[in-house]
Amino acid sequence: MFTKNPVSETKVGKPSLIGYSSKDLSEIAVEMGQEPFKGLQLFKWIYEKNSKDFESMTDLPKDFRNKLFTKYSLRRPMIKNQYISEDGTRKWLTSFDDGNQAETVMIPEDNRITLCISSQIGCTLTCKFCYTGTQRLVRNLSAGEIVGQVIIAKEQINNCIDDKNKEKKTISNIVLMGMGEPLYNFNNIKKSIEIINDKKGLSISNKKITLSTSGIIPQIIKCGEELGLNLAISLHSPDDDTRTKIMPINKKYPIKELIKACKLYPQISNTKLITFEYVMLKDLNDSDEDAKNLVKLVKGVNCKFNLIPFNAWPNAPYECSSNDRILKFQKILQDSGLGCFIRTPRGLDILAACGQLKTDSKIPNHRKSL
Ligand code: SF4
Repeated sequence: MFTKNPVSETKVGKPSLIGYSSKDLSEIAVEMGQEPFKGLQLFKWIYEKNSKDFESMTDLPKDFRNKLFTKYSLRRPMIKNQYISEDGTRKWLTSFDDGNQAETVMIPEDNRITLCISSQIGCTLTCKFCYTGTQRLVRNLSAGEIVGQVIIAKEQINNCIDDKNKEKKTISNIVLMGMGEPLYNFNNIKKSIEIINDKKGLSISNKKITLSTSGIIPQIIKCGEELGLNLAISLHSPDDDTRTKIMPINKKYPIKELIKACKLYPQISNTKLITFEYVMLKDLNDSDEDAKNLVKLVKGVNCKFNLIPFNAWPNAPYECSSNDRILKFQKILQDSGLGCFIRTPRGLDILAACGQLKTDSKIPNHRKSL
């Protein structure tokens, strides 16, 4: 099902405060002659109460509200199109101030709602099984654009889930698994996580947030130390030749080094595991031998596996392994004592499942020729 957003596009104007942390807003309050705590109140209005205009922020002095209105806006990304899957998954084509677009996916389950957000428009990494990888990188998303995806998702969830399920009307988990390599946009991810975590605002704990990376080794430890998020690694093969074939980044950051970095990841313990994601590609990485080699490879890493049945997209060069093959592969990993789950594809009918996101945004011609 597909619905077009009736709201017309807003013209870019004053800078939006979406993406400003509580510290930033306190500084703005001081600049405007207020006590710093007025900035914290402003933060609450923006992120907790989801206020869309300064006028409604009734506990802020009128003079402060007027100054804010003169200089800033509360503009957020706009949902251009919405796609609704038969299984309840929703994909939003989200449009930003410059007209570029990224996709955000909301996956409702029995007792939780997971939000999959994008970190870049396009991607530099050209993983061969991923639709986003066929779209050249246009640019990184700003912290405001990353947080903005969470804000508009919250709003949509409030509008779209029926009243009987009111208590479930909240985002329980966030996965940075949408378009782009989040560790190539580290500073903006860091800033957005700070805002998303803040108890005075969106208040989603970093224990509920998972960052998925193709394995940018120098940033992995930094991610653990500075962001403290759950980590998922796109592994997809136990041997360098195959992995390089499907993930060219493996040439730069080969498997052995990647596993070493995983062992050093600060958050990892017997109860907190790294997730290895493994897309099941017919006759490419799905043999019994591959499974046995994986077991050897991850020895000593506190980890579990998510097997992802390959989700096809237009002109995809691969096929998904058979169900029987996936089950046999899973059994080998489980028999070795590893946790191994098969991910149920969600939103397949609207191209919202893993590896299926892509937009029409392109690098402008004048930038291409630089
Ligand atoms: S899998 Fe992730 S890193 Fe690889 S091309 Fe797709 S979006 Fe980029």
